[in-house]
Amino acid sequence: MTDLIDKRPNFYGFGGLDRSAHVREREGWLDELLERADTRLVLVWRTRSFVLEVEDAAPRAAMLPAGEHRHLVAHAESVAFLGELDGIAHVALDLSPVEEPDLQLLTATHGGFTDLRRIGPLLERFEGSLLAYARGLLWWHQRHRFCGVCGHPTRSVKGGHQRSCTNEGCRAPHFPRTDPAVIMLVHDGERCLLGRQKIWPDGMYSTLAGFVEPGETLEEAVAREVWEESGIHVRMVRYHSSQPWPFPSSLMLGFHAEAKSFDIVRNDDELGDAQWYTAEDLANFAAMGKFLPRRDSIARRLVQDWVESVRPDLYDAVDAVPSAYPVRTT
Ligand SMILES: [Zn+2]
Repeated sequence: MTDLIDKRPNFYGFGGLDRSAHVREREGWLDELLERADTRLVLVWRTRSFVLEVEDAAPRAAMLPAGEHRHLVAHAESVAFLGELDGIAHVALDLSPVEEPDLQLLTATHGGFTDLRRIGPLLERFEGSLLAYARGLLWWHQRHRFCGVCGHPTRSVKGGHQRSCTNEGCRAPHFPRTDPAVIMLVHDGERCLLGRQKIWPDGMYSTLAGFVEPGETLEEAVAREVWEESGIHVRMVRYHSSQPWPFPSSLMLGFHAEAKSFDIVRNDDELGDAQWYTAEDLANFAAMGKFLPRRDSIARRLVQDWVESVRPDLYDAVDAVPSAYPVRTT
């Protein structure tokens, strides 16, 4: 991955997985993978991921070997191939139809189902990316059980990477959906523009963001969202990096942009507050009772990289500012 971009990938991104798209076509191939004893099962239950949390240690993805847990496949609503790492296949199972009490045998011995948003930043990067991938793909299956063209049921094909309409007169293919969203750090050389949504925890500030609309370029979406939310005009919109964000199905496309106007005219429907902050302000955020975005988010990366470009001496101080979303460590 490091040869694809000049810095390490954002959290939930991992380039080392062989997605084997060329063999997903073959009928029966997924069944063969599930017969392999070393295939790893990545379990999801109603948007929650299966993890092992042990006191005084970082949580781990609880991936189960198919050899001992093949019976789980029969209970799965959806089965989707994720990819291979070092020759070992990883297959996602959606156990949502199983009622909670019936999961007890599993959860008592191997881990528990929890919201990835709560423990994501504490996971090892490959495991975090795999759980995010599984969650996003299975969420799509959960919500595309019927054809959007004719209303008939759909069925999963191609290793869980497509659904096809079962109505012979329709047979429309449906592909996993990823919604592009732009997220941008706007700056004027000395200050950066951060805002907060009213529903966020008190004191939490982040970069502006919004969904790309049909017919827009990414650069236009950046300029429009910044204008709509803050009344600021921007120029020099420059791509930074991207991040899968399966909560539930976004791809965050990160940008830095230069402000060409500076008076904030806030859209009260969108933001509760928006302010210009210098790197020094950010370094003092904790003392001001303010918080920065969570560490696994591209928003935090955009802020940190901007601080590094203008005041590298303050990078560590800004890095130490807590997020408003504390994660439990035990
Ligand atoms: Zn159809």
